[in-house]
Amino acid sequence: MLFCEVFLVINAIAIDGPGASGKSTTAKLVAERLGYMHLDTGAMYRAVTLACVRENVAPEDSPELERIVAGLDLRFTRDADGKQQLLMNGADVSLDIRTPEISRLVSAYSALPYVRERMLEIQRAIGSSEPVVCEGRDIGTRVFPDARFKFFLSASLEERARRRHQELEAQGFSQSLESIIEELEKRDRKDSTRAHSPLRQAADTLVVDTSNMTIHEQVEFVINHITERGLPAAGEKV
Ligand code: C5P
Repeated sequence: MLFCEVFLVINAIAIDGPGASGKSTTAKLVAERLGYMHLDTGAMYRAVTLACVRENVAPEDSPELERIVAGLDLRFTRDADGKQQLLMNGADVSLDIRTPEISRLVSAYSALPYVRERMLEIQRAIGSSEPVVCEGRDIGTRVFPDARFKFFLSASLEERARRRHQELEAQGFSQSLESIIEELEKRDRKDSTRAHSPLRQAADTLVVDTSNMTIHEQVEFVINHITERGLPAAGEKV
């Protein structure tokens, strides 16, 4: 049987990379500059994990898990101040999905084929309705393989752990640098060795080592690269 994947994307800019590589903040700021939507696919996998944890459903419990995921309504909206939020079945879960517990558990849920297929459908539906800066692990390889611009942000494990440590402290969580290093390493390993859509660099991606770059420099790098080559016109298929 011949499988043919046909889907239309308006404009998609793909930003992939491991945890704490600076891709979320970069994607958010690039999206703001371009007037595109920031499609944070990691947030979606985190929401799936949160929904399962709340109902006490383990990744191995396929029937229950599929019931929960099938009933999930995930939407990105903006609050009164224009800040993007993730609504899960109508409730804002933007903060609840960022706890150390969800970070520790998410890779086990995101590796499941049913979860990935369902998230893929939602991600492509969003990408076919508006221009997106889409960030994750499999954006350039699987979600939007035809994106005209693909970036893979990387940074040393130590630098990523340092950034995550700062981020957690700002959110009021205290976790030692050593245990963050251990967890990031574990998550990287799980995300890049899973069978379905693992974290991988697309052949045509631009790899950017952000270890010695500020967020401002990362954003400028991406924006300059895109504008030098010409941003696709709205509606142009990429
Ligand atoms: O980007 P973030 O760290 O929030 O992603 C959380 C987790 O979601 C990753 O560790 C990975 O397991 C999963 N993920 C994924 N595919 C994506 C984005 C995130 O599997 N496109």
